[in-house]
Amino acid sequence: DPRLKAISEAIRVVPHFPKQGIMFQDITTLLLDHKAFKDAVDIFVDRYRDMDISVVAGVEARGFIFGPSIALAIGAKFVPLRKPKKLPGEVICEAYELEYGTDCLEMHVEAAQPGERVLIIDDLVATGGTLSAAIRLLERVGAEVVECACVIGLPEFKVMLFKFMVEDTLQLSLS
Ligand code: 5GP
Repeated sequence: DPRLKAISEAIRVVPHFPKQGIMFQDITTLLLDHKAFKDAVDIFVDRYRDMDISVVAGVEARGFIFGPSIALAIGAKFVPLRKPKKLPGEVICEAYELEYGTDCLEMHVEAAQPGERVLIIDDLVATGGTLSAAIRLLERVGAEVVECACVIGLPEFKVMLFKFMVEDTLQLSLS
């Protein structure tokens, strides 16, 4: 896909952020480039528009940047998966591993119904821990996770997740 190179080049890599040794993939520069930003959303929309998906679930915070545009374009609702204590209604929670300690993702229990087909969106997958927690949340309410999709897949991680698939065409990582 000829659009991928420009999308990839629009993502800034910031060395040693937020700490020494981390090469941070900064998608805010992609958002400044209207064509590259739109192309990134369109690639997802083209893939998912005819897959009978009724829920797009976005992972806080950068899944909130791409998820709603995709949801509107494919005719789905958007469900935010949030960090703890942000959602006011009844929530379920799933923990995931961080480098030091654990964190949680929460979802409103009534946000997805049993049998609904779900697409999970985040900006980047590294170990897959965050997306695994997201999948567990949706499956706990009986929804079916059709696919997870990210703009960036870090090549140094071999992600092994049941039902997890980042399309080659969507892996825009800057190796
Ligand atoms: P994982 O759980 O797969 O190890 O990490 C993925 C999560 O960490 C995503 O929610 C993603 O937003 C965040 N993340 C980790 N490293 C980076 C990075 O270099 N750039 C960006 N934009 N997000 C990152």
